[in-house]
Amino acid sequence: MTNLILPPSTIGIIGGGQLGRMMAISAKQMGYKVAVLEPAALGPLAQVADLEINAPYDSEEALTQLLAVSDVVTYEFENIDSHVVEKLASAGYIPQGYRPLAMTQHRYIEKTSINNCGFKTAPFEKVDNFNDLKNAIKKIGYPSILKTVSGGYDGKGQWTLKSDSDLENVHSVVENQNCILEGFVPFTKEISVIVTRGTNDQVETFPVVENIHQNQILHLSIVPARIDANLAKKAEEVAATLIEKLDFVGTLAIEMFVVEDDIIINELAPRPHNSGHYTIDACNVSQFEQHIRAVCGLPLIKPTLIQPAIMVNLLGQHVEYTLNMWTKPEFSDAKLHLYGKEEMRANRKVGHLTFMNDFETKLEETVNQFLINFP
Ligand code: ADP
Ligand code: MG
Repeated sequence: MTNLILPPSTIGIIGGGQLGRMMAISAKQMGYKVAVLEPAALGPLAQVADLEINAPYDSEEALTQLLAVSDVVTYEFENIDSHVVEKLASAGYIPQGYRPLAMTQHRYIEKTSINNCGFKTAPFEKVDNFNDLKNAIKKIGYPSILKTVSGGYDGKGQWTLKSDSDLENVHSVVENQNCILEGFVPFTKEISVIVTRGTNDQVETFPVVENIHQNQILHLSIVPARIDANLAKKAEEVAATLIEKLDFVGTLAIEMFVVEDDIIINELAPRPHNSGHYTIDACNVSQFEQHIRAVCGLPLIKPTLIQPAIMVNLLGQHVEYTLNMWTKPEFSDAKLHLYGKEEMRANRKVGHLTFMNDFETKLEETVNQFLINFP
């Protein structure tokens, strides 16, 4: 039986960053109240929340408090101690459970689970010490990428290995942290699919996005992805099948590599994702609203793209330039989102812009013009 959570019930969110902020804005639009658990005071989500609890994410006392004040609890990032969530789940209502956290915060478990569902990943080997690394290299070869199993984001905790001479550089890494070695995937494109599954078992996918990274940080998301229509259909089917096989609820982002006409899954995020921000302005339902609907047991909305869109990610160093350009008439219809971060730190995500146009060539032209002197 679906547990229907109606406004003005309180939605508790673990994590207080921009993803939580955008979830909360959707929730508040529908009349819900929002509570947040986040160590730092007055972050992006707390600025729009009704109630703030400042404590570490793994504080049992704080999580118990959040569960007590909330009719439903969700999370906006995956690096929360899954054991604490598992232990306290019965003290409240967390429809997503702890499993998505346990799986996606550990690259080895994540990739193994994807393979067990019948989908391809890059070849990978567990590396717990230098000897494991040498053995893994024998199987996977060069070029390959060493990644810490947990805590990595935006390319942090990753080292590309091109030859034996690179091994000594990562000696202390593999002796001090659990890692995996991944074969380098010679992809032609990176794409992602945002998919949502409700507590009512309904599954809906958003249009496939093409992602362009700079320094391993997402730079542009282009939708529709410039790939073959059959491949796009396949990517959506992979996403819908995977979320069902994993038995996840809520919004799940699936990063994929395109290799010729094949799809290789890179990683999962059990939450709304940077590459789905275009949905706020360019779709009839956003990934955030859909997530709230999913965990509240409401019927999901079938996503449709209103207009082709390009999202430009804004890092701290881009804000001044962006504000200057965005006030020019030719860019004034780009939709600006800033996350309320106190510090505009370099290489940290502080906002995004969504450009839209019915004509894809015109859209690309405008974005190219906007980016002409992008810092
Ligand atoms: P995170 O996003 O958590 O930092 P990812 O595994 O997604 O980690 O890696 C970041 C980026 O590095 C990817 O989007 C991709 O561009 C590149 N990358 C990661 N793994 C591979 C791989 N096995 N082959 C080729 N490129 C990769
Ligand atoms: Mg990634």
